[in-house]
Amino acid sequence: QAVLPLPATTRVFTISNQKGGVGKTTSAVNLAAALARAGAHVLVVDLDPQGNASTALGVDHRSELQSVYEVLVSDLPIADVVQPSTEHENLDCVPATIHLAGAEIELVSLVAREQRLRRALDAHLAAMERPYDYVFIDCPPSLGLLTINAFVAAREVLIPIQCEYYALEGLSQLLSNIELIERHLNPELRLTTILLTMYDSRTNLAQQVAQEVRDHFPTQTLDTIIPRSVRVSEAPSYGQSVISYDFASTGSLSYREAAAEIAWRGAQDASEQKESH
Ligand code: ADP
Ligand code: MG
Repeated sequence: QAVLPLPATTRVFTISNQKGGVGKTTSAVNLAAALARAGAHVLVVDLDPQGNASTALGVDHRSELQSVYEVLVSDLPIADVVQPSTEHENLDCVPATIHLAGAEIELVSLVAREQRLRRALDAHLAAMERPYDYVFIDCPPSLGLLTINAFVAAREVLIPIQCEYYALEGLSQLLSNIELIERHLNPELRLTTILLTMYDSRTNLAQQVAQEVRDHFPTQTLDTIIPRSVRVSEAPSYGQSVISYDFASTGSLSYREAAAEIAWRGAQDASEQKESH
């Protein structure tokens, strides 16, 4: 198992794209699993009422359990709802239950409605003996208050982009939302990472889309591309990442490579910042 550099402080990522089915949850779970296996202490916050990330990590999210919903709406501490994943000893999950679907509306009338996840997460990290190295927040496919909470809680945005027609459509809306959040709610927020997913190398279209994304986002787009692979789509039904489901598969390999890139890029950015100070 390759050893990766650990960040000096917690890197909090929001995995966002207002389109559904582009690989947000798959990327959150598999990147988290890859980093945990490489020795990092990792948390996945499931912020989608569907609870797909919770399922994929083998974490209970039946509707009678307390979850991120109570954290957001009732100020319950994250420590009260966080669960160990079955995936890896270094990987925890804050599950989502179906109640979260109502939070989008319920949050509207609450004080500091955009800051609720940030406050809960900061308090949790501050109380930890060994804080997480990485936190991945898996967003629902919308730009509502849940996603805004994720943007305010994070420092980095990771956008998965499916290599298909329409891939770039809607992206400008996402980018201007990120800019708005940066200006008004979270000056530290940066789009640091774009991950090309569900790539089918047999089609010209996929290659064109990948090139177009690289032209638009030369520094943010990871070199690693996640191929379309049946193993990736099968893994969640076994409550596993593709890495434990089929370690040697191309999907597993590419997510492990993407995770390594994220770790090394972070280490490089950190050393450049040190030099310039
Ligand atoms: P989102 O969270 O953006 O809605 P998902 O991560 O749930 O998207 O992915 C949508 C569907 O595509 C899921 O059924 C998932 O298993 C499948 N999928 C995701 N990535 C891949 C891939 N690289 N190869 C094949 N299927 C994939
Ligand atoms: Mg999802």
